Amino acid sequence: MASAHVQVFPWPLQGHINSMLHFAAGLLDAGLHVTFVHTEHNLRRAHRAEAVATPRLRFVSLPDGLPVDHPRSVGDLTDLSKSLMTTGPAAYRALLASALSPAADGGFPALSCVLADGLLPFAIDVAEELGVPALAFRTASACSFLAYLSVPRLVELGEVPIPVGADLDEPVRSVPGMEDFLRRRDLPNSCRRRAETDDVDPLLQILVGYTAHSRKARALIFNTAASLERSALAHIAPHMRDVFAIGPLHAVSAAPAPATSLWREDDGCMAWLDGQADRSVVYVSLGSLAVISLEQFTEFLSGLVGSGYAFLWVLRPDMVGASQSAVLQEAVGAAGKGKARVVDWAPQRDVLRHRAVGCFLTHAGWNSTLEGITEGVPLVCWPFFADQHINSRFVGAVWGTGLDMKDVCERAVVEGMVRRAMESGQLRMSAQALSQKVRRDIAEGGSSATEFQRLIGFIKEFGK
Ligand code: UDP
Repeated sequence: MASAHVQVFPWPLQGHINSMLHFAAGLLDAGLHVTFVHTEHNLRRAHRAEAVATPRLRFVSLPDGLPVDHPRSVGDLTDLSKSLMTTGPAAYRALLASALSPAADGGFPALSCVLADGLLPFAIDVAEELGVPALAFRTASACSFLAYLSVPRLVELGEVPIPVGADLDEPVRSVPGMEDFLRRRDLPNSCRRRAETDDVDPLLQILVGYTAHSRKARALIFNTAASLERSALAHIAPHMRDVFAIGPLHAVSAAPAPATSLWREDDGCMAWLDGQADRSVVYVSLGSLAVISLEQFTEFLSGLVGSGYAFLWVLRPDMVGASQSAVLQEAVGAAGKGKARVVDWAPQRDVLRHRAVGCFLTHAGWNSTLEGITEGVPLVCWPFFADQHINSRFVGAVWGTGLDMKDVCERAVVEGMVRRAMESGQLRMSAQALSQKVRRDIAEGGSSATEFQRLIGFIKEFGK
């Protein structure tokens, strides 16, 4: 029987690309063919993407609708979102139609299905219109999906939007399964009003709409594990046609990790880590999108230096407002007195696996959270936006594998939390216990592995 062939289409951002490329690697392991869709801009940036194209994996691209010289600044995704929403459907229709023409097979079997990012609902609609079954993949946590799914009810109850000046520690009792620990401040930050006169944030409305749209997909796939999010998954399932929890995907594939970075990784930090004692280094990374002010940079730096521990800090050149990254790097070098290492972009999964890393100061993006959990590293979370606010609550209050520093950026707090994360035996034990549970989920016979097999069977049915 011909192998199944899946087209995988992520939102064109690093976190989405990473988890969907790991998913693609899993499909390849299972013997399937994969066509991976990048934007033209990202395909040019994915330095090593061509190198990992294999006989069963190919990359194609479509325009994102922005001029070639547009900065596509991470601090403002508005242009990219608008452009994708307006020009994306036609560009994707053309791409998919040509992929369906017999001349396009290039030795690949006919397309069995499309697996589109849940934040690209048009891809799901276009695929189904052209007769190709469509599945949705959400790269964020199931708990955040459930929060978005619950927003209409929260609005009905008057709990959202959260008024300016409201007590953010007030409990939120209308997200099912989270009644005992969820506070206003843990909801996606677009639930907060920025001004008295604000209505529901347009971004929140869009995300709530996309969340509901996933019902139209044949199934919804999460990069998560039952031992992390059993309750959220159970509450989501009745609202969707089918749900699969198959993560953490970065740890699943037996094949070498696919090259996923849009930035050039600085491998030099690995040799630096080799020279450090076991669990003596704080790894600091706020992911691919967070942007901080110069004041916040200074508070982080002072707190890290004050903790007395060595640290490895990912300072993307576009991360601190308009400041010059070379100047900031020098400032870290000077303040760190030989105990600091700065990189533009790190091989994060290798870093977290390194014996020298003692804790991870993270923005609690879902990929970073999963990567830290899998390696059993205690986390200090400083969520920046979107799902990160609820992820960090799970880290601090549900899994007990780290500390939640949301809404505060003060040197004394940074210093204190980093020290606790580096020194607390309890946090490390919890982090390692959770890592074991998650590793059991992805091992043969575990819940994620079993769900992955069920998904492969589900996909193969489309080809019959
Ligand atoms: N990452 C990396 N090197 C870095 C910083 C981040 O490889 O220096 C990777 C990280 O391993 C993760 C992704 O970038 O897979 C970031 O995704 P996440 O969901 O954590 O956050 P986002 O960037 O979407 O905010």
